[in-house]
Amino acid sequence: MRGNAILTVDLNAIAANWKTLCHAHRGPVAAVVKADGYGLGAVPIAKRLRREGCTHFFVAQLGEAVALTPHLRDATIYVLGGILPGDEAAFVKHDIIPVLNSMDDISRWSQYARLLGRTLPALLHIDTGMARLGLPPEDIGLLTSNSAWLYGISLRYVMTHLACADEPHHPLNAKQRIRFADACARLKAPLRSFANSSGIFLGTDYASDLARPGAALYGINPTPDKPNPMHIPLKLEACVLQVRSIAAGTSVGYNATWEARHTARIATVGVGYADGYPRILSTQASACFNGQMLPMAGRISMDLMTFDATNAPDLVPGSMLELIGPSVPPDLLGQQAGTNGYEILTTLGRRFVRQYIGA
Ligand SMILES: *Cc1c(COP(=O)(O)O)cnc(C)c1O
Repeated sequence: MRGNAILTVDLNAIAANWKTLCHAHRGPVAAVVKADGYGLGAVPIAKRLRREGCTHFFVAQLGEAVALTPHLRDATIYVLGGILPGDEAAFVKHDIIPVLNSMDDISRWSQYARLLGRTLPALLHIDTGMARLGLPPEDIGLLTSNSAWLYGISLRYVMTHLACADEPHHPLNAKQRIRFADACARLKAPLRSFANSSGIFLGTDYASDLARPGAALYGINPTPDKPNPMHIPLKLEACVLQVRSIAAGTSVGYNATWEARHTARIATVGVGYADGYPRILSTQASACFNGQMLPMAGRISMDLMTFDATNAPDLVPGSMLELIGPSVPPDLLGQQAGTNGYEILTTLGRRFVRQYIGA
């Protein structure tokens, strides 16, 4: 089956991005492959990065971790979202390490360790500025004043997460760094895990024993105010289903929001908002054909969209248009759609034929 669109993921480019991050961080670097590897395929990506030497993988949920385990040998998988009550046995069975985000998580993990009569590994997450998950620094006193809390728990890393790492001059970065250093000192943390993608580029003050980049692996610019140091490892190409010439004054698409000013050639592709291409990009975004940008014409439909190909006489039915990729970066589409590249990637649809280079 050919499919209306092909999503090509270049695992060599993702591997090269991971190497770039290792070099920039000057310390161990994990791979965050939550949300199916930011929409690009957690299993092939994790397998390829394991071959490259990556041994630490982060996901958001236990289900994602369980799906990865059969594909990774001699690697550790961590679940950022913590342990839900009742999931303790599954973590142990699959050798998956939870991130403990609350006193309640800690208490349940310690109780389970006592029950099994063994030590269980964990990461401890301290909240230093997100107010989302993690222990508030005030709770650290409880842990340090009563060792029973962490009884049976072997803390592999103490971690925190930066809220504004993509804004290098934001004052919260330094505040979080100081709060984290203080928390680690009080906890006598042996190992620390700190930076996400952008955090790696904040400089050596933000280095740690394990960086946790996701976005940059997938081509999202970790330094938005500078040129992108990463490769864009994906290309979404849609096949032109039909090309038609229309007279001046002819409208295109639902609600007739776009009208040809002159005689125009309209190319229709079989990708729409049901494929995760945001409908709000109607008449905003462009697609690339042989290095030439073709503006969108009219509203995006559920399964179809239309581009003005008047200036591309070589375009014919069967031609391929790049909708997302090196010429149409996810960051750009995200910006045009009033969101970010992360959301563009993680909402990519399930109907594309997917092919992997470098598996
Ligand atoms: C998603 C996530 C990351 C990865 O962040 P990127 O900005 O994609 O590099 C790291 N740590 C935590 C806690 C996360 O939730």
